[in-house]
Amino acid sequence: MRKQGFVTTFMVTALVIVALVLSGTFLWFYLRTEKLSMGLVHQQAQTLFRQIVLTQRWITQHGGVFVQVLPGVDPNPYLTSLPGLKVTIKDEDGNLYTLRNPGLATREISQLANESGLFTVRITSLKPVNALKNSPDAFERDALLKLENGIKEVSKVDRTANGVFYRYVAPLYYETTCNRCHSHQGYNNGDIRGGISISIPMDELVDEMKLSRLYTLLGFIVVFGTMFLILFIIARRFMRELAVAQGELERSACTDSLTGLFNRKTAEIRFREEISRHGRSGEPLSCLMLDVDHFKSVNDNHGHQIGDMALVEVARIVSELSRQADAVFRYGGEEFLILLTNTSLQSALIIADRMRIKVEEDTAKLSDGALSLTISCGVAEYCGNESVEKLIGRADAALYRAKANGRNRVCTENASWFSL
Ligand code: GH3
Ligand code: MG
Ligand code: MG
Repeated sequence: MRKQGFVTTFMVTALVIVALVLSGTFLWFYLRTEKLSMGLVHQQAQTLFRQIVLTQRWITQHGGVFVQVLPGVDPNPYLTSLPGLKVTIKDEDGNLYTLRNPGLATREISQLANESGLFTVRITSLKPVNALKNSPDAFERDALLKLENGIKEVSKVDRTANGVFYRYVAPLYYETTCNRCHSHQGYNNGDIRGGISISIPMDELVDEMKLSRLYTLLGFIVVFGTMFLILFIIARRFMRELAVAQGELERSACTDSLTGLFNRKTAEIRFREEISRHGRSGEPLSCLMLDVDHFKSVNDNHGHQIGDMALVEVARIVSELSRQADAVFRYGGEEFLILLTNTSLQSALIIADRMRIKVEEDTAKLSDGALSLTISCGVAEYCGNESVEKLIGRADAALYRAKANGRNRVCTENASWFSL
């Protein structure tokens, strides 16, 4: 029982450790994948920002670019309001071209990207030139304030009713080339005049992350389940083998190796059990103390091996003549103690004499008369209110009487019952 408790504790501890290690590993793996994915989105936003800045710089360096006036391509009203700026020109074929400044170019590129579902880019500022188009929203306002306080970039994952977006804002610095359109705003070279706000749809990535979370969980369950099963099978096998080994150990601890009978140590336990049962049931209880006569001469004349075989034979005979509920013990070298449950003294004497006769007959028969063993037997019935030692002592005294009266006989403490 104690060993089973140990195995259970071991199993539970091992499982807890395995669960902790596995869940830690899987969690680390999952968080790392998530961080990596977020890092990639962030990198994408940074790259977009740099591209927009480069495009704007290029357009600014060239003083803006002219695009053909076509349906939907109108001159920029802000530029037309600036004094001395030629906004619309005509080529020799009569085609009209209108000036595009970096801000509008960015807005139009963003519109294209937005229509194709890729991303949106907009220029925003706390002091927008075009308040309608470039005023910041709450996140952008907060980001612009942070940028003015020296933070290099601001980003966040924005969960909206239209989906999940990765929002990114980085600063747009004032350069002398910006003077043409922004000189009236009073910026100096290197001032932050606003920011480029990028928004990247993340719905697909979020779905992928959910899937990866699910796979991670499934992986954990499968690996943990397998480990649990393996541990369970090992523990169960171990328990079975332990139980078998324990059983064998217990059996060898209470049996005699030569005859296979119970040993003297077990006799005491069994006698106590039967005495307490007798106390409850009131059924009679008797015992026999049996000793092989002149056994020393058997060893002397035939050798120890034959002596051993003779003892095994006596054990077999007395066991065969005992009932299932009785118990036969090898009490000493060639002494046997037999506990007869629900047996009166009278019945015990009959059983003892049956054993005496059978031993004599069978040993003679088996050895073709070369070795005829006889036994002497003392019989005692439990009289209540006496100890195990006392009961066995009385059976021993009866055996002594049988020996004293010439052996090969059955006696009680006070009387010789059968004689030759
Ligand atoms: P008694 O009729 O008075 O009982 O005479 P005995 O010779 O049987 O008694 P004694 O006590 O003198 O001798 C018992 C012998 O039993 C001595 C011992 O060598 C032998 N013996 C005890 N255990 C074993 C055993 O396991 N194997 C064999 N072969 N002999 C044993
Ligand atoms: Mg003897
Ligand atoms: Mg003896």
